[in-house]
Amino acid sequence: MSEPAAPRSLSPAVRRGLRRTARGIAAALATLALAACGTANGALRPEPSTTAPASPAPAPASPTAAPSSAAPAPASPEPAPTPTAATSTPAPPPAVSPTTGVPTAVVHSTASGGRTVALTFDDGPGPATGQVLDLLAQYGARATFCVIGKQAAADPAAVQRILAAGHRLCDHTVDHPQPFAALPHDRAEHEIADARQMIVRAGGPGTAVGWFRAPGGAFTADNRTIAADHGLRPLGWSVDPRDWSRPGTAAIVAAVQAQLKPGGVVLLHDGGGDRTQTVAALRQLLPWLTAQGYRFDLPAD
Ligand SMILES: [Zn+2]
Repeated sequence: MSEPAAPRSLSPAVRRGLRRTARGIAAALATLALAACGTANGALRPEPSTTAPASPAPAPASPTAAPSSAAPAPASPEPAPTPTAATSTPAPPPAVSPTTGVPTAVVHSTASGGRTVALTFDDGPGPATGQVLDLLAQYGARATFCVIGKQAAADPAAVQRILAAGHRLCDHTVDHPQPFAALPHDRAEHEIADARQMIVRAGGPGTAVGWFRAPGGAFTADNRTIAADHGLRPLGWSVDPRDWSRPGTAAIVAAVQAQLKPGGVVLLHDGGGDRTQTVAALRQLLPWLTAQGYRFDLPAD
């Protein structure tokens, strides 16, 4: 008989060990799922309006909380949600960082207004970044790339290509933890400040990172202030076709066409999973925008 013994025949100590191992595997899987934001768990990764916290987002699985299979599980069976998230009535942040003078208000529009549009690409660099850059170059479009620190570190050539093409960089945290608004201050500080350093290191000396975008748009008074203290302006959006959820190329195109108003900031993704639909939508949107008389601009800083 090669079948394992039925669990009821195991001693209580062995059953406890099996439960610990199962919890360890579950935690490790949760961490893996988070590492690829918007991929398999795309439905769990809402990108709501930038002023609202991402309330339905899944519980965070801190990378440090994933035990190795050999380590005993912590006493608490579930990673307890932080009870002090207090996203409902946060104290207002200062208008500008007292240390850098950078405003803390979230930007939702282009620099020059008028018939302009700011394209932004999140969660890269990834496999689609090169295709996005090629398309943007065809139309002479400048864009802003909200890159994830760990991915920038893993692919510095992509960051350098973004810079060489004249695009701008935005800090999108070290590894995109969600719900971002629930992170304690020190963890949020690490995610923002360390990502900035990783992006600068990837881009090379003199790399400018002027923006911060919270994962899921989960801005809080606290993380906006942290960002501004590090010279990063919070960057929101006004057009969200939810391309990360892969609704179909036509749906992405239609949503942008329906939501966009002059001066708008469009949220798209060049990372976080298969971006075939996003690239195909961009291939249609760039000529449409041009035909509509839009100029490609940067967000208002
Ligand atoms: Zn993101």
